[in-house]
Amino acid sequence: MSYTVTFWGTRGSIPTPGVHTARYGGNTSCVAVSGARDQLVILDAGSGIRLLGRELMRVASMPMNLDILLSHTHWDHIQGLPFFQPLNTRGNSVRIYGAAQAGVPLEEILDRQMDPVVFPVPLKALAADLQVTEVTGGTFEIDGFLVEAFRLRHPGTTLGYKLVPVKGGRTMAYLTDNELGSGGSYDVPDDWRSQLVRFLRGVDTLIHDGMYSEAMIESRAGWGHSTPEQAVALAWEAGVRRLVLFHHEPEHDDGAVDALVIGARSFAAARAPGLVVEAAMEGMSLTL
Ligand SMILES: [Zn+2]
Ligand SMILES: [Zn+2]
Repeated sequence: MSYTVTFWGTRGSIPTPGVHTARYGGNTSCVAVSGARDQLVILDAGSGIRLLGRELMRVASMPMNLDILLSHTHWDHIQGLPFFQPLNTRGNSVRIYGAAQAGVPLEEILDRQMDPVVFPVPLKALAADLQVTEVTGGTFEIDGFLVEAFRLRHPGTTLGYKLVPVKGGRTMAYLTDNELGSGGSYDVPDDWRSQLVRFLRGVDTLIHDGMYSEAMIESRAGWGHSTPEQAVALAWEAGVRRLVLFHHEPEHDDGAVDALVIGARSFAAARAPGLVVEAAMEGMSLTL
C-alpha cells in the first residue's frame, strides 16, 4: 500500500508566522498520513491542524471518521484542536489517542485547554462525536495502520509512533520531542537507546526532532530535544532510509534551518552514507 505524508505544521514550541519562517513554516506540529480513499491518521494537533481541517472540509466526504495520535499534550501539540473545523461539525466522529499526564486523564487535559477562563467554547460543546483513548504503549490498529507507541525522553509522558501499513508497504515513524543526548532525567529503562533502535528497525522514513544546533544543545540539556546530528546517528544505527528533521526551533529563521540541513547532510555523508536527510517544510508531501 502506498500512502502520503503531508506536513501541516513543522515548528516547535510556539507558532512563528512571518516572512523569515515562510519556507519551513510557522505552524506547530501536525502531520497527516493519508492512504486510499478516506484513510487518514493525524499526528499531533498543533496550530497546523487548523489548515488541515479546512482542507478536509473542502475535499473529504461527510461524515468524517478521524483519528488523531498525540505525542504528548504540551501546547504546541494540542493548541490547534479548538480550531479544527471537523471537530465542530455534526455527524463527524473524532478519536484522539495519547497518554495521560501526571495522573491527569487525557480527556481532562484537553478539556482544560478550553476552560471558560481561557477559551470561549468548551470542548464538550463541539458538535462532533469525540472519543478519547489513553495509550500507554504497545500496538493497536487504526485506519489500515498498525500503530506502535514508544516512550520518549521528554518531560511528561511523550510517545513516539510507528505506523506499519496492515496491507504491506513502507513503515514510517514519528518521534518528536525526544532527547537523544544524555541530558535530563526521564522515566525510561537503562537500555532505552537499544530498545529505541530495535523499535526503528525496518522503518523507511523517520520524522525526528532536530530542534537545536550543536552550539545550543549543551545549554538546553534536559529540555527534551535533539540536534540534527544526533538524529542522523540514530537513523543510521537503526538502518532507516530517510530522515526528516522536524520541530524547528522558533528562534531559527529559514536561513538557520538551511544551515542545520547542510550541516546534517555533510555529517551524514561522512557518518551515515546513503541516508537521505531532509527538513520538514509546511506543505511538503512525501509518498511512501
Ligand atoms: Zn513540542
Ligand atoms: Zn514537548
